[in-house]
Amino acid sequence: KDETGPKTATIVQNQPILTVTEVKVNVSMPEAAQKASETGADGVGLLRTEHMMLALGVHPKKFIMDGKEDELVKALVENILKVADAFYPKTVWYRTLDAPTDEFQSLEGGENEPHEHNPMLGWRGIRRELDEPEILRAEFKAVKKLHEEGYTNIGVMLPLVQHPSELREAKKIAREVGLRPQENIEWGIMVETPAAALTIEDFIAEGIDFVSFGTNDLTQYTLAIDRNNEHVAGLYSERHPAIMKLIGRVIKECNKAGVKTSICGQAGSMPDIVEQLVELGITSVSANTDAVATVREVVARVEKKLVLKAARKMMQG
Ligand code: PEP
Ligand code: MG
Repeated sequence: KDETGPKTATIVQNQPILTVTEVKVNVSMPEAAQKASETGADGVGLLRTEHMMLALGVHPKKFIMDGKEDELVKALVENILKVADAFYPKTVWYRTLDAPTDEFQSLEGGENEPHEHNPMLGWRGIRRELDEPEILRAEFKAVKKLHEEGYTNIGVMLPLVQHPSELREAKKIAREVGLRPQENIEWGIMVETPAAALTIEDFIAEGIDFVSFGTNDLTQYTLAIDRNNEHVAGLYSERHPAIMKLIGRVIKECNKAGVKTSICGQAGSMPDIVEQLVELGITSVSANTDAVATVREVVARVEKKLVLKAARKMMQG
């Protein structure tokens, strides 16, 4: 006799669950790529650069100042290759460097980093990279080299944009090193500032293939809560309705324009938020390695519910 009683659901182990909404994975360290790919994720929705750079022990600016750009490019190629290879031919979105000034001070050459009152509102992300285009150029050269070696599954994602001019400028630098954004390489932005969310139409007009919600930052900037300040940590929540309102409008505009939408902040690993995002029509979700399986199940359940709802509506005429 089965002591647990009748079952309403059967879980078939080791059977891949298919979903229309892609479920991707975030990767911060190239060494973790293999394990991340074993989850069966549909690609990498966020490949962070910061940890690779920190592991080099030398500030990227120092490579440039010492006339060693080629060494920086080589190190980046080696690191990105591990991820691109583990996931090939699935897409890997390489996010260009987003280094707040306080995080790189311990590196060799990092002693010259400015001391800012609030690094989170300061010199980081694409704004910094456009001020120091040598580092951005080295990153683009690394991506170009890998593309030439056949790793055309690598796309580029720009962090912390707040105006389309930043997107335009970054594309210009990419073209200078021989990449052709949106022609032979997928090109996108992170939506991490309320400004980007509220004017997403302008970014679409400027030209993007995808957006990804960086909800860690989007939450701090929307709620005016420094994510590193313990005194206000209790007020920090991705579940504040303002966040979903911003995300909702971006998904709507992007879906109208055929631009892909994704999420790579922590909220992409939270089942209740993922459920809302799938209902809003997001095209992919990128989660932490240990959350991929759960997120996949949530996505499958919500998709099934939406299909049933639509089918019933159709049948009712
Ligand atoms: C985010 O802001 O949600 C994000 C994924 O980027 P990071 O956490 O690296 O700032
Ligand atoms: Mg961020």
